[in-house]
Amino acid sequence: MTELSGLQIFKYLPASKKAEHTNCKECGCPTCMAFALKLAKHQVEIEKCAYICGELKEIYAQSSKQPQKTVEINGVKIGGENVLYRHEKTFINKTAIAVVVDMAKPDWKEKLDRIKNFEIKRVNEFLKVDLIFSKNGKTDGTIALEDLKNFDLIEFDGNNFDTAQKLIETRTKAVKEKDETCSAPVYVYFKHAEDLNLLCAKAAYYICKYANMLIFEDFDENMTAALMTLRQNIFTDPQKPLQVDAGIYEFNNPDENSLVFMTTNFALTYFAVAGELENLDVPSYLIVTPSDGMSVLTAWSAEKFTAKVVANTLKKFDFRNRIKTRRIIIPGLLAHMKEELEEELEDFEIIVGTIHAYETKDFVTALLQNR
Ligand code: SF4
Repeated sequence: MTELSGLQIFKYLPASKKAEHTNCKECGCPTCMAFALKLAKHQVEIEKCAYICGELKEIYAQSSKQPQKTVEINGVKIGGENVLYRHEKTFINKTAIAVVVDMAKPDWKEKLDRIKNFEIKRVNEFLKVDLIFSKNGKTDGTIALEDLKNFDLIEFDGNNFDTAQKLIETRTKAVKEKDETCSAPVYVYFKHAEDLNLLCAKAAYYICKYANMLIFEDFDENMTAALMTLRQNIFTDPQKPLQVDAGIYEFNNPDENSLVFMTTNFALTYFAVAGELENLDVPSYLIVTPSDGMSVLTAWSAEKFTAKVVANTLKKFDFRNRIKTRRIIIPGLLAHMKEELEEELEDFEIIVGTIHAYETKDFVTALLQNR
């Protein structure tokens, strides 16, 4: 049973039946409707109203049950999910990625080092393997695989043809029916696979639907990086745009004559551009305008990226006095704003840059040759 809405609760309260005690305020709310709305959000206890019937108490208790339990393994939380689709609310705990080290194998130390040393940075987040399990022994930083049975978890075999179907059924029963036999977090165990591409494809699907943890006997840096990139996208909160602070960012020790780029504060755009500028052997500034975390075209269409916003950003960070350069490179997608920006910024020449961040290097090389 999904959570009750305020209106569904209200149907059981005295006011909806025009019964005695209607809007009596004894619960501390001005009306029965106000109480119902608060109760739906769990902001008031059901006992505050003494006139609630047994039927409502029962269905409220049923609907308030947590669909999926949260389990913590060595500080890593898995499960605790409430929804089938991220846009309904958000997902809570990202799918943990775990690797098994078999200490009976001669190369186990080398494998363990590779797993421990693996780290990627993406959208300002450092991503590492979440858990390392060991079998046929135990060493520092690992959990004995056999101890996994002490946790309340459901296991599926990554190689079974019906695992995807079982994952969907289990999450659906947990969320829609609050079925307690399906309320434990679910992990998928992948035995050694010959075909890493197939393994990666299956794992990617199970991250989307609906594994709480993936345990691999194989470890491959490229596959892990790909899965973590996918996972980061799936487990961001859709109600909170990923954004960075507006401001002036510096790359390779710029001075007053350095190149100046501009973009919005959508995190993915920022990190794509920043990564390219960092890797250029050229000093530069990046002006990041405030745009509520919207990408450049979205920001422009929502009037969050206007000539006025740009002018205000330069003023706020006193940028005009920090540089002699009077050229600003804008994203290629905003080419149509060139004249408008030149009018607003008066003494600046606006140069239309690339549409894609990866084209920056060639663009800058050509620009510097034609200086
Ligand atoms: Fe309505 Fe119950 Fe609150 Fe009275 S105590 S206002 S009946 S919800």
